[in-house]
Amino acid sequence: MSVAAKAFEWFGLHKLVRRVVFEGTITNIEPLRVGAGRAAATFEPVDLVVVKITTADGKSIPYIPGSSLKGVFRSYVVKLMRSAELAVCGGVPGDTCLKGDEFEELEKHRASYESLVENIANALPKPICLACLMFGSPGLASHIRFYDSYPTDGYRLGYRTMVAIDRRTGTAKPRALFSVEYVEPGAKFSFRVEFVNLPNYAIGVVAESLLDMHMGLLKIGGLKTRGFGWVKIENLKVYGYDYRGGAELKDSIPALDPLDVDVKVVESSWLETLKNFANAWRGALQKLRKVSESGWRWSSCLV
Ligand SMILES: [Zn+2]
Repeated sequence: MSVAAKAFEWFGLHKLVRRVVFEGTITNIEPLRVGAGRAAATFEPVDLVVVKITTADGKSIPYIPGSSLKGVFRSYVVKLMRSAELAVCGGVPGDTCLKGDEFEELEKHRASYESLVENIANALPKPICLACLMFGSPGLASHIRFYDSYPTDGYRLGYRTMVAIDRRTGTAKPRALFSVEYVEPGAKFSFRVEFVNLPNYAIGVVAESLLDMHMGLLKIGGLKTRGFGWVKIENLKVYGYDYRGGAELKDSIPALDPLDVDVKVVESSWLETLKNFANAWRGALQKLRKVSESGWRWSSCLV
């Protein structure tokens, strides 16, 4: 195995290296509206309903799909990475590193897993940015999994009639009222995100996004400019499992590659733990910029 393939073993998901879990509760302190779209509301008295799921006992309850959370966090992480002068793609059609057929040639020749990692590390034939490596891209699986968030306690749905704003003039559109459904502030939702084979600095940029969410800088759902979508974190537990060593990770999450550092888990304060992860992200930036400038050739930081 080459040096790069060994150092960046986490790139692939062919084998479990380690898993880190953030698990807790989120509470909306502002109205929360994760929408189901107009089509879903055809037979409802409201124009815009919240997305709901039917439970085993036939009840219809609001929830936050993991796919929505993943989208919110990916676009925020991309912004943070660009602020840090990393050249990452937007991860949307027309602005993505991969089309989906890039690894077919390798697979056709039954290339070994090591050569696949080697290819990504040396960015051949085309570079893959850190955001795609973390969140996935056509033909490349994601290292991050956001679970669906469900109400853990009670919740109340609210309804409000709003005036549509003309985007051109910035004034109220005549005769354009619409009604929205939302979850009233104070509802508690489960929250769980898993990082599979991901170094601490990559977890760190998500941790920084979570801290921003907690402070109201990153909001969830729709109508953000009308004061919706601030959610706060409560009782976050951070733990992991190292599959190579066959051991639980509780007090410390070890570094995973040459750019990474160990992160201390502070059991009494999830806020401190998230800050420690965010520091791992900040600490890796200089090296990450070098990798980014080389066209995401990761072996460039090994010399
Ligand atoms: Zn990309």
